[in-house]
Amino acid sequence: MIERGWVRTVRGDVELSTLRSGKSIALVHEHLSCDLSLGFGPEYVLTDLGLVTSEVEIAARHGVRLVVDVGNSGHLREPAFLRDVADASGVAVVASTGHYREGFFPPGVEAKGVDELAEEMVAEIETVIAGTDVPAGAIAEIGFTGEAATPLEAKVFLAAARAQAESGAPLLTHTAQGVGWAEQIDLLVKGGADLGRVVIGHMDCLDDNSAHVGVIESGAWLGFDRVNSLRYQSDDVRVARLLDLLEAGLEDRIVISTDTAMVTRLTAHGGAGYAAPVTELVPRLESAGVPAESIDKLLYENAWRFLAGE
Ligand SMILES: [Zn+2]
Repeated sequence: MIERGWVRTVRGDVELSTLRSGKSIALVHEHLSCDLSLGFGPEYVLTDLGLVTSEVEIAARHGVRLVVDVGNSGHLREPAFLRDVADASGVAVVASTGHYREGFFPPGVEAKGVDELAEEMVAEIETVIAGTDVPAGAIAEIGFTGEAATPLEAKVFLAAARAQAESGAPLLTHTAQGVGWAEQIDLLVKGGADLGRVVIGHMDCLDDNSAHVGVIESGAWLGFDRVNSLRYQSDDVRVARLLDLLEAGLEDRIVISTDTAMVTRLTAHGGAGYAAPVTELVPRLESAGVPAESIDKLLYENAWRFLAGE
C-alpha cells in the first residue's frame, strides 16, 4: 500500500510535504515520455531526453515540483526515460501502470480477466513495471474511446478500480473530451475504487457546468487537465467554467494540468509547455477577478491534497 501523504515516484516513496516549499505545483496529468505518432501524427512524440528535461526545468522555475506521467504501455512510455528526466531535472516524477483505451491495449488484455489485470497493475506498483526496474505510483490514464465503454474498456476500468482499492494509488482517467464521465464513475464504484483517489480527466474539454458539478458531487476530482490544449478548448472557456465552479464553492475538488503530449506544445517549439497553468491560466483568472486564495487552491494546493489522499 502507498501510505497516505506519500507518493511513489520513479525513485521510490517520498513524503509529499517534503516536495513543497512556497508556491509549489504538482501536475497530475502529463506526458514526459510517449510515442503516439502512429495513432495521432508525428508531433505526438516525446523521446528527446535533453528536450524534455529542459522543458521540465523551465516548469520547475515556475514552481513545478512533481509531475505524474499518465502514460502506460499504450503510449509507449519508457519508465527509464522518466527516471532519467527526474534525475536530471530534480523534479519528482511518478510513472503509471494500467491500460489506455481500445486500440491501444496490448494483446494480452482480451484474454485476461478482471482479477488478473488488477493483479498485474498492483504488482507494478508494489514492485516494478514489467521489464524495468522502475515502480509505478499511479493507475493511469484509463480511458474510453467514445461516449460509452467498449466491453474491453469496461473490463479494464473494473480492474483499475480494484487495483486502486488494493494499492491505495491515485487513479486518473481519460475521457473523450469529457463525455462518458458518469459511466466511468459507475464502473469505478462497481470495481471498488475510492473516488476520493480518482481524477476524471479532460473535463475542461466539455463546456458543461452540470457535468463538472456531477463529477464533483460523485466524490471524484474534476480534471481541468488540458490547460492550453487549444485544439480541444479555448482557455477563455476553461476560465468561464472555472468561474461557475468557484461561484458554487466547488474550488476544492478541481485539479489543473496540461496533458502535454505533442512536441509542438513545448516552449522550444513556441508552446506554453508544462508551465501553462502559471503562464496562461493564472493571468486569465486574475483578470477575471478571482481572489488569490482561490488561485492558490487551484494551482498550489488541490493537486497535493489529491495525491495525499486528503
Ligand atoms: Zn487522455
